Amino acid sequence: VVQLFIPLNFLGFVYREIRRALTDMGRMFGLLDVQPKVRDQAQAKTLRPGSAQVRFEHVGFGYSPQRPILKDVSFEIPAGQTVAVVGASGAGKSTLARLLFRFYDPGQGRVTIDGQDLREVTQQSLRSAIAVVPQDTVLFNDTLLYNLQYGRPEATREEVEQAVRLAHLDGFIRQLPDGYATLVGERGLKLSGGEKQRVAIARALLKNPAILIFDEATSSLDSASERAILAAIEEVAAQRTTLVIAHRLSTIVHADQIVVLEQGRVIERGRHDDLLAANGAYAALWRLQQRQQLA
Ligand code: ADP
Ligand code: MG
Repeated sequence: VVQLFIPLNFLGFVYREIRRALTDMGRMFGLLDVQPKVRDQAQAKTLRPGSAQVRFEHVGFGYSPQRPILKDVSFEIPAGQTVAVVGASGAGKSTLARLLFRFYDPGQGRVTIDGQDLREVTQQSLRSAIAVVPQDTVLFNDTLLYNLQYGRPEATREEVEQAVRLAHLDGFIRQLPDGYATLVGERGLKLSGGEKQRVAIARALLKNPAILIFDEATSSLDSASERAILAAIEEVAAQRTTLVIAHRLSTIVHADQIVVLEQGRVIERGRHDDLLAANGAYAALWRLQQRQQLA
């Protein structure tokens, strides 16, 4: 029995790990059908943990050579700060996130963390330093606990509970008859958009990464849920290097810097008040969204 149990258990572990890795990298960016394009260099090093300063340096990129998507994009996220990227749909915002997670390598320029070119570090060490909260969170047909621990399977129950509190999910779990053992996903309890986003934030917290990416993490929520999630995001992002991709500008007014992307180019950058005063593209977008809110 013991002999049979161990290999099966091990296979289960391997299966879960593979499923985890694939889902983590693929579905979070809607790229499950895409083979990873990047490989570790033979001499790839482990990413040296530092203060987690992120730099995009003259980055050019296209999914195909005929169609450039990002053009000479440069910006920096100082360690522990929050930079927001805004712009119309199709501007290239999610592509920036994919380059930081190294789904792809830039065609021109480079992306660095603490001065280390992402091409020169192992993907494993890079991806363990970054957590992504995507627009559409994927829940597995499994328990709530499994879905939370997926951020870090070896996390203790106490660590899970702490992340759940920070993500403002504790009240929700307390009122479930089966609590953490509740089956969720397509065949279990259906969670609302806001609840799913909170699971994603708790997952990201459990992973305890130096760098966080929120890719339109609140865009599918109503205003009340959005406010609750934003409060959670602000707590989580404090002290961490954070890239927030936002469509709704109300969500990023407090960012340390806002980068405005238009057709793959940085056309403006600055803090919210500076950009309003500059009265350019950001200010126009802001006025438009203010009007839409009133309407
Ligand atoms: P945003 O997040 O700002 O809406 P994206 O970065 O997702 O924009 O996409 C920028 C452009 O790149 C879009 O025109 C999109 O159609 C294109 N694009 C995105 N992903 C792929 C892909 N995997 N293959 C080819 N083109 C893509
Ligand atoms: Mg996008």
